[in-house]
Amino acid sequence: MQRRPLIAAAAAAALFPKSSFTQTHDVVDVLVAGSGLAGHAAAIAAREEGAERVLVVEKGPVIGGHSAYSSGSLAVFSPALQNEQNLSDPIEEWLKDSLDIGGKINEPVVRAIIEESEAAFRWLSSMGVDFSPSLFQAMGGLKPRCLAARSGLGGKQYIEKMHAVLADLDIDSRLSTELAALELNRSQDMWQAALKRSGKTKTILAKSVVLATGGFTANTSLRMFYDNRFSAAMRTTANPDGIVWDGAMGDGIRLAQQLGASIVDMHNILYLPYWGGRTLEYSGAEIYVNLEGDRFVNESSSITAIAQAMTHQSEQSMWVITDAKSTKGVNTGSKISSGRVHLSESIAEMARGMNIPAAKLESTLARYNYFARQKEDPDFCKEFFTQTIDTPPFYWGKEKLYVHCTLGGIEIDQHARVLDPAEHPLPGLYAAGETTGGIFGQDRLGGMSMSNALVMGRKAGRSAAIRL
Ligand SMILES: Cc1cc2nc3c(=O)[nH]c(=O)nc-3n(C[C@H](O)[C@H](O)[C@H](O)COP(=O)(O)OP(=O)(O)OC[C@H]3O[C@@H](n4cnc5c(N)ncnc54)[C@H](O)[C@@H]3O)c2cc1C
Repeated sequence: MQRRPLIAAAAAAALFPKSSFTQTHDVVDVLVAGSGLAGHAAAIAAREEGAERVLVVEKGPVIGGHSAYSSGSLAVFSPALQNEQNLSDPIEEWLKDSLDIGGKINEPVVRAIIEESEAAFRWLSSMGVDFSPSLFQAMGGLKPRCLAARSGLGGKQYIEKMHAVLADLDIDSRLSTELAALELNRSQDMWQAALKRSGKTKTILAKSVVLATGGFTANTSLRMFYDNRFSAAMRTTANPDGIVWDGAMGDGIRLAQQLGASIVDMHNILYLPYWGGRTLEYSGAEIYVNLEGDRFVNESSSITAIAQAMTHQSEQSMWVITDAKSTKGVNTGSKISSGRVHLSESIAEMARGMNIPAAKLESTLARYNYFARQKEDPDFCKEFFTQTIDTPPFYWGKEKLYVHCTLGGIEIDQHARVLDPAEHPLPGLYAAGETTGGIFGQDRLGGMSMSNALVMGRKAGRSAAIRL
């Protein structure tokens, strides 16, 4: 595991002014920082576990973080749902696939996420999210393992439903309020938290704190410190046009590191094609071709495999093509009106738009469709096909690489307790979601980031309520 300093000691001291802690106002049982999927799950679970005073603080002016921008593919291990679809996909297979694409995993934590994903999904359903009835294969999912909201609204719907539950449970949540500093008050055995709002700092005491502040994709200098390919020129999937609020600055990681937590795998940053050409939220119904009109990758492989193959293509770009038969994602209309996705009545017309010779594209598609019918792909070993791509209108658009999510951060155990470098839990400090690291290695199965936030957020809330 890689442990490197995030910021110099002097800078840390400046961020941590003593004056932050001169006055203490409120006392809460559980303080949750961050209002994404992990934060909402933690707050609700803490209350269900008996914590009376639960407070959620959100740095941004809106709730939800990246969770609300997510397509909401949620990996769910459910033998019952697998049975209904004649699938046989045991936990050991999930672990093996996770290890294959991640290079290494924190097995107790990944196992806990998989094992508890069905209970967590049913919990979310009980809050009013109406899920699609069958498992589908998400991008990078390798097998049909995901569910998503039937509305197509993805993570936004999860957050809205959970936020309503938060209100029903009288859990206090405050927007534009940043957890700015954290320190152990040894005499009272509580955490002293500096909360910053409109330039003013208020201090509260908390028996337990859950860090659910998300990753650090928006922090250009931090991500470049660990991997200089991720420069400011590369946009993020959370903020593709640079116009929305994005609090993914790695705050929780910095705070935890100042408290002596183990910070791991910060170099593991995931990128994926997100310029707008893809219209589907599932795998199996799209072909990817490079700017010369050739296939170059198994479209159903891991996100890292696809992204790495793209880096070797002209302009690090590709065309994505589907047809009239596939089920389009909820953003397809806006992608068409903004010109990112085009419709063509013939392959020749599409080829003209791509500046590729028509005969070349026709032969690439014909070969792909032959493989799709045989369900065998000797060129790139694709095994998962849901259809051929041959029915006009064709939907096509360009894709480029964007920074997607970070897989490095605070090391936790399977109870979501924050660990120090000697693997000892820091009493009363918990973390969940994208602020944590070392769980999946360099890549995770499609849908597992949301399962991680939901399951480990729920576990963090429970652990925090009883100060496990
Ligand atoms: C466009 C997009 C699509 C995605 N689609 C999928 C998908 O389909 N399936 C999947 O598994 N994963 C997906 N992901 C990844 C997944 O959405 C995230 O990993 C997950 O939502 C992280 O949840 P979280 O609760 O940990 O963090 P977030 O949802 O990012 O929430 C963190 C919150 O903490 C707040 N915060 C930060 N610092 C502070 C502070 N100091 N004090 C208080 N609050 C603070 C932030 O403002 C933010 O609101 C997607 C990501 C993106 C960007």
